[in-house]
Amino acid sequence: MPNICNYYVTLSSNDTCEFHHAWQKDKPEKIEEKPCELGNLKKAGVHTLRITGGEPFLREDLPHILKEAKRIGFQTELSTNGIKYLDKARLVDGLIDRLFITLDYPFAEGHDRSRGVDCFHHAIKAVELARDLRQRPIIKFTMTRDNVLYLPEMAELSARLRVHLYLSPVYDFHGTQGFEPATLGHIRYYARRRHVLLNYAAMEFVKDGGNRVILPRCQAKETTVTILPDGKRAGPCFFNQGGRQGKEDICSSCMRWPYMLPSFSKGFDRYFWLNLYSNLVFKRKGIKV
Ligand code: SF4
Repeated sequence: MPNICNYYVTLSSNDTCEFHHAWQKDKPEKIEEKPCELGNLKKAGVHTLRITGGEPFLREDLPHILKEAKRIGFQTELSTNGIKYLDKARLVDGLIDRLFITLDYPFAEGHDRSRGVDCFHHAIKAVELARDLRQRPIIKFTMTRDNVLYLPEMAELSARLRVHLYLSPVYDFHGTQGFEPATLGHIRYYARRRHVLLNYAAMEFVKDGGNRVILPRCQAKETTVTILPDGKRAGPCFFNQGGRQGKEDICSSCMRWPYMLPSFSKGFDRYFWLNLYSNLVFKRKGIKV
């Protein structure tokens, strides 16, 4: 029974993030945003609502969605670039259990280039505001072969801001994903710090080259529900709508973490145990997963 819902509340974005799938298409999808009945999901056993996009804060009724989600009893997660959060923080105060604010570089020039707009200072202000509102924000660092060089500075910056740093290997940006063994060791070394979070199963999966279409590791359908901006369900995942789970061309080397990390909760292999261990370490570091 799936217990995580990846809810793509909008496909609109206010940056042109290098890693993002939606805006890079020649003809970005247009899906009308409509309300979604969340109560049925809860009854079906879903306990965590992961709100993503696009940029979730561009969805006008986001505060209403979050209020409804908390009323029903979901754990809520949300990832944002922080730009619109500055205006809407008070409308969503207390409604997000895990708030991720994305940073690609620990300095303005790199981050703004990566995002295509000047937003580094917005992101930093968003982190400070969320921290002061006791939202306990987490900086999410999507690591590529280029920006992983700045991991020490990113760890310093998040320590200075007194927030956790979540390390996530890039999954949808061809050419800069995958790391040399020495780099994987470097990442693991930084993950020992008290404020740095890393999923060790994800690291192992990167080392192994991701999903294989022969004997797929993907368990997207068994562990997640995907909701599109119009409230309709899609499967097995957002990226492979209507396809065979783990077996299509797009599934080759797939490391799409919103689906792969939940997949690691099924099947007693080394990814399962590393994922379990990582979740215990997160709890020890003060983050409830
Ligand atoms: S693209 Fe989707 S279905 Fe295919 S392996 Fe990745 S998460 Fe699974």
